[in-house]
Amino acid sequence: MLVRVKACGVCGTDIHIYEGTADSRPPVILGHEYAGLVEAVGNNVANFKSGDRVVIDPNIICSHCHYCQLGLPHFCENLAALGVHTDGGFAGYSIVPESQLYNLPSNIPFDWGCFIEPISCAIHGIDLAGIKAGDNVVIIGTGAIGLIMIQLVRLHGADKLIIAEPTKDRRDIACRLNPDIVVDPIKENLKDVVYSNTYDGADVVIECAGTPKTTRATFDLVKRGGTIIFFGVCDRDSTITIRPQEIYLKELTIIGSYINPNTFSRAIDLLSLNKIDLTHFSIKKHSLDELFKAFKYHKERRYLKNVIVPNT
Ligand SMILES: [Zn+2]
Ligand SMILES: [Zn+2]
Repeated sequence: MLVRVKACGVCGTDIHIYEGTADSRPPVILGHEYAGLVEAVGNNVANFKSGDRVVIDPNIICSHCHYCQLGLPHFCENLAALGVHTDGGFAGYSIVPESQLYNLPSNIPFDWGCFIEPISCAIHGIDLAGIKAGDNVVIIGTGAIGLIMIQLVRLHGADKLIIAEPTKDRRDIACRLNPDIVVDPIKENLKDVVYSNTYDGADVVIECAGTPKTTRATFDLVKRGGTIIFFGVCDRDSTITIRPQEIYLKELTIIGSYINPNTFSRAIDLLSLNKIDLTHFSIKKHSLDELFKAFKYHKERRYLKNVIVPNT
């Protein structure tokens, strides 16, 4: 199917690929967070027609490999992601298999449609976190993902929600989503704040910044029997030091969260039903020929989301 791209979000993964710190299959058109209008359909397309508003799940699976048959599609051995391995959404038009298209409800604008892929990834992370009502939760990093996580954690009935974010604009947006405690980790000692506001640390710590330093910090914030979610993506070759006894003595559960298996429809529903609210997210729209400016803004943490709008 041919999709006329109406909005495609810039994501840290695009920058990682562009800088050679994440895997890809160049030459390839990047951009995996996108929405648009169906422009034309092939003969075998059954469920979409020209003019339909659509959003794209970029992760194309084979459905027959070992992991697909185990029901773990995100580990598909033939995974081909639009905008990573095959051409994606930083373009006027994109060819997309019908299997990857979902209807975009009319109350979701196209630039919000770009958030459905990151929301679907965050839902997978929250599923894995197993947050229980009354849990104390720490979220490190409130870029777009962290701000989505705040809302998902609230939906799970967390008690005390502590967030840490060094950028003022992002803390300000986070404050509008009603976390209990907002920490500037440059000026305050996050560990002290967590321990003075919880009994012996957080039940769940969700790392959404993707740096070795913040990833390492999760071990110092989690209580005995607690859970750490590695959600943020560190550079491929980065490392951290862990003493095995930290994990042993605290009986820690450390969980990686990778992409979005079977969560795309739930992401669309949560956004359409206003359970996830993007009203306060600062979104900067750029034309297609401003792509590198958008990358630069992303790296400089200007705006919460930089979105390419190839067709007006
Ligand atoms: Zn992304
Ligand atoms: Zn497969």
